[in-house]
Amino acid sequence: MAAEDRLRTYRGGRDFERTREPSGRPAPAGDAGSRFVMRIHDARRMHFDLRLQAGGVLKSWSVPEDPSDDPGDKRLAVPTEDHPPACDDFEGVIPKGEYGGGTVFVWDRGTYEPLSHDRRGRTVDFAESLERGHATFRPRGAELHGECALTRFRGGTDGQEAWLLVREGPARPDAHGTPDPRRARPVRTGRTPAQVAAADGER
Ligand code: MN
Repeated sequence: MAAEDRLRTYRGGRDFERTREPSGRPAPAGDAGSRFVMRIHDARRMHFDLRLQAGGVLKSWSVPEDPSDDPGDKRLAVPTEDHPPACDDFEGVIPKGEYGGGTVFVWDRGTYEPLSHDRRGRTVDFAESLERGHATFRPRGAELHGECALTRFRGGTDGQEAWLLVREGPARPDAHGTPDPRRARPVRTGRTPAQVAAADGER
């Protein structure tokens, strides 16, 4: 599917007269960027938004629990619609009543190193590995680091598709434990969710 078509669900679900989220275009062809972003989304229920750039869009998951620093800890990751790459920067308030209404801020972002390989150890294209349902990557973030794996464990033919996010390999020696999303500081602006919300109200 062309990147442009992948973003139809994203665009169709939003009223860009009401939300300041980027209406967004796919990455230009040839932009093989590998950015990741983990946002905290204080919506109906607070959760993390994980985004990984692949195939010209940001592949997206909603992660209800904090991403543990402990290798082997499994976190449910529920796929959401593909997002435009410009979304990796968005912070602010999505108006109540709109899709995803609530405050959003960037918890961690950076690039990731794709590590997906087949059983013989040969490199597999990252977007393709996601389509197959198992991908490994190493995010280079301030908070999210070390080897991670995303594995689909429930298909989407009837009912919601579900994945697991697992931190693999040894934890970083200076890992400082599991963050409390309500206390986490956004790395981009250093503002708290309340400050992000207040600043957005002043616009
Ligand atoms: Mn979300």
